[in-house]
Amino acid sequence: MNVHGLDSHDQDAPIFAADAFRLNDFQAELIGKARRFGKKALAPRAAKHDREATFPIENFRDMHPEGLLGICIPKEDGGLGADFQTYCLAAAELGRYCGATALSWNMHVCSTLWSGPLSDDLEMTPEDRAAHLARRRIHYKRILEDGAIYAQPFSEGGAAAAGAVAFGTEAKPVDGGFLINGKKIFASLSGSADYYGVLCTERAEGEAASRRNTLYLGVPANAPGVSVVGEWDPLGMRGTVSRTLLFKDVFVPEDAMLMPHGVYFQAASKWPHMFMTLTPTYMGLAQAAYDFTVGYLRGELPGMPPVKRRMFPTKQIAVAEMRIMLEQTKALWFQAITEARANPSKDQVLRAYAAQQTVMENANAIAVKAIRTCGGQSMLKSLPLERIYRDSRCGALMLPWTAEICVDRIGREALYEPGEKDE
Ligand SMILES: Cc1cc2nc3c(=O)[nH]c(=O)nc-3n(C[C@H](O)[C@H](O)[C@H](O)COP(=O)(O)OP(=O)(O)OC[C@H]3O[C@@H](n4cnc5c(N)ncnc54)[C@H](O)[C@@H]3O)c2cc1C
Repeated sequence: MNVHGLDSHDQDAPIFAADAFRLNDFQAELIGKARRFGKKALAPRAAKHDREATFPIENFRDMHPEGLLGICIPKEDGGLGADFQTYCLAAAELGRYCGATALSWNMHVCSTLWSGPLSDDLEMTPEDRAAHLARRRIHYKRILEDGAIYAQPFSEGGAAAAGAVAFGTEAKPVDGGFLINGKKIFASLSGSADYYGVLCTERAEGEAASRRNTLYLGVPANAPGVSVVGEWDPLGMRGTVSRTLLFKDVFVPEDAMLMPHGVYFQAASKWPHMFMTLTPTYMGLAQAAYDFTVGYLRGELPGMPPVKRRMFPTKQIAVAEMRIMLEQTKALWFQAITEARANPSKDQVLRAYAAQQTVMENANAIAVKAIRTCGGQSMLKSLPLERIYRDSRCGALMLPWTAEICVDRIGREALYEPGEKDE
C-alpha cells in the first residue's frame, strides 16, 4: 500500500508521462493518484453499472476520502488546487477505467472549476469578488466535509445549450433569493447528486430574456419543487443516469449563486476552453481501446486464454494505425488543454475546437478499429471493449461543442473575422 491507501503495483503506464510532457511533481502525483484510483475502484464496478444503467454512487463515496471531489477547489479553501490542465489529465486517467464515472465526475468538478480557478481569471467588482469568495466557500465546505456531489444540468432540448439563445429555465429574483421554473434534459447524476448546478436565465417580471443574464445556481436536490422524471436506457454512458429534471417554483437563497450575476456569460466568451472539460473522459476511452487491443493481441488479457494474435501483418498494421491516431489525438489535445486561459488568441480557440472534434471522433474511431482488429470474441460483454465502443460513441453528441458544431465554427471563424459579412 502507498500513502494514499492504494496498491501501487501493477499500474498501467500514465497516458501522459510526466517527463515527456514536462509535468511537475504535484501534477504527476495527482494524476498518478487518479490512475491508481481508476484501476482499483472504478474498473471492477464499471460493467455492472453499465449493464443495469445505475449510477456508480460508491465511486463518488470512495473519491471523498481521496480528496478527488475537491480536486479543483483552491488549496486555500482546503481542496487539492488542481488547475484546468491538471484536472483534464487526471480525468483522462479515470476515463480509461469507467467512462460514465469520469463523465459524471466532470459534471461535479465543473461546479468547482468554474467557480474556482476559472472565476479567479474573470473580471468582478471588489464587492462581487468578496461576495463570490464567501459564497463558494459554502459550496466547497459541503463537498469537502460532507462529500456533497454536484451535477451540471444545462441542456434543455432547444438551442440554449449550444449557446444560441437564453436558457428557458428561469430564475425570478424574489425576496432573499430566486424562484426557479423550467426543465433540463440529460442531467447526468440525476437522482444521485446532492445539488444541481443549474444554468438558468435571471429574469425579473416584464424583462426580456437575455444570455447575458445567465445565472449558475446550486439547487439542493431535495428542495421542494425539484423532481426527476423519465426513463434512462441509452446506447452508452449508461452509468451517468442522465434523466430529466423539472423545477416548479423552486426557491433558493442568494448564496446558491455559484458565480455572480453576468459572470457565466463572461466566462463563456472569455474562457472558451471551459467547454472542453467533456473531452478528458474520451481521451481516456481512446487510450483504453488501444491498450485493450495491444493486450488482446499479445494474449495477455486477464480472463482470456493466452492466445497470441500479434504475428499477423494485418493486425500489426491496424495497431500501427491506431497508435498513429492515438498519438495525433494526444498531441493536439495536450496542446489545447495546456494553452487554456482567459482571452485566448483566435488560433488557440480554433485549436480548441479542433482538439475537441478530434478527441470525440477519434475515441470512437479507435474503438471501432479495436473491435474489427481483435475480432468476434473481443465484443463479448464479459470484456470492457464493447462498453468502450458504446461509451465512446456519445462524445461527439455532447453540447455545447458537438463534433458538428466544432467543424461549423472552425470553418466560419477561419474565414470571417468578427462582424464581417458578405454582400
Ligand atoms: C451520456 C450523456 C450525458 C450527458 N450529460 C449531460 C449533463 O450532465 N448535463 C447536460 O446539460 N447535458 C448533458 N448531456 C446532453 C448533451 O450535452 C446534449 O445536450 C444532448 O446530447 C443534445 O441532444 P439533442 O438531441 O437535444 O441535440 P440537438 O440540440 O437536437 O442537436 C442535435 C445536433 O444538431 C447540431 N446542432 C445543435 N444546435 C446547433 C447549432 N446552434 N449550430 C449548429 N449545429 C447545431 C449538433 O451537432 C447536435 O449534436 C449528455 C449527453 C449524453 C449523451
